[in-house]
Amino acid sequence: MRSIISITDLTLEEIEHLIAVARDIIVHPERYSAVCRGKKLATLFFEPSTRTRLSFEAAMQELGGTVLGFSEAQSSSAAKGESVADTARTVSCYADIIAMRHPKEGAPMVAAQHATVPVINGGDGGHNHPTQTLADLLTIHMEKGRFDNLTVGFCGDLKFGRTVHSLITAMARYPGVRFVLISPEELKVPSYVKIPLKANNITYIQTTELREVIPELDILYMTRVQRERFFNEADYVRLKDSYILTPDKLTNARDDLSIMHPLPRVNEIPVAIDRDPRACYFKQVLYGKYIRMALIMMLLEVTK
Ligand code: ASP
Repeated sequence: MRSIISITDLTLEEIEHLIAVARDIIVHPERYSAVCRGKKLATLFFEPSTRTRLSFEAAMQELGGTVLGFSEAQSSSAAKGESVADTARTVSCYADIIAMRHPKEGAPMVAAQHATVPVINGGDGGHNHPTQTLADLLTIHMEKGRFDNLTVGFCGDLKFGRTVHSLITAMARYPGVRFVLISPEELKVPSYVKIPLKANNITYIQTTELREVIPELDILYMTRVQRERFFNEADYVRLKDSYILTPDKLTNARDDLSIMHPLPRVNEIPVAIDRDPRACYFKQVLYGKYIRMALIMMLLEVTK
């Protein structure tokens, strides 16, 4: 029994395996339609979600399993003061695997310590989001065919953006990767996220200027400013439109640039960009379901 709390809970070989399985599911979904028959996934979402929760649920259903759970803290006994530990012990009596999102950093780890079934972190506060990273890695694999020797630009709220933290951690394990970190001064990547960069000799630059660096990028990972993590609304309002990817900013970008975004977007990517063949963000949405199918299978130790 194992849980996935951080992307580093998976080895590079396991990530390669998950990607291979996800790619096989895309081609032969019928071969996987009953592998989780009789198994139950619980989705415990203490914070809003569209893609993560619904893709987990769709993933389990497409594997032949069933789902139960809640989509807001208020409809669970958390509203009565029940601890995450007791919730996890309780749900372990009803489900074979748990996907959990929580506004507090570390809550899924606490759940994993008390659950008797695998727990998957579906996003914990401004910390980590390993399954979004798996969706991102599958997208990069489909688009680029590799993870090494890529220049990856992250733009927007790099301080609170948990998908950024997890993807930087994941990509820092591949050789020849270079990061371009584009954010306002107040929303720079936290220093703990940069520790593996030094350890792995990964080069990175930090800048406030998107337009200047766009021509260098293989991947541009846009993010929204994370309103719910701000202490005061005035700061959010001041920073929310720091970067808007207008078509003119893409004039000097590479033809094979991949534009990614974990979604939801607010206004950092105008709808006009959706028609650009370089836009990948709705592919990420779809791939997120397939890679979660592969992850559920791995943790439940089922094969086709
Ligand atoms: N959906 C992603 C997350 O849950 C990105 C975001 O909310 O901006 O972290």
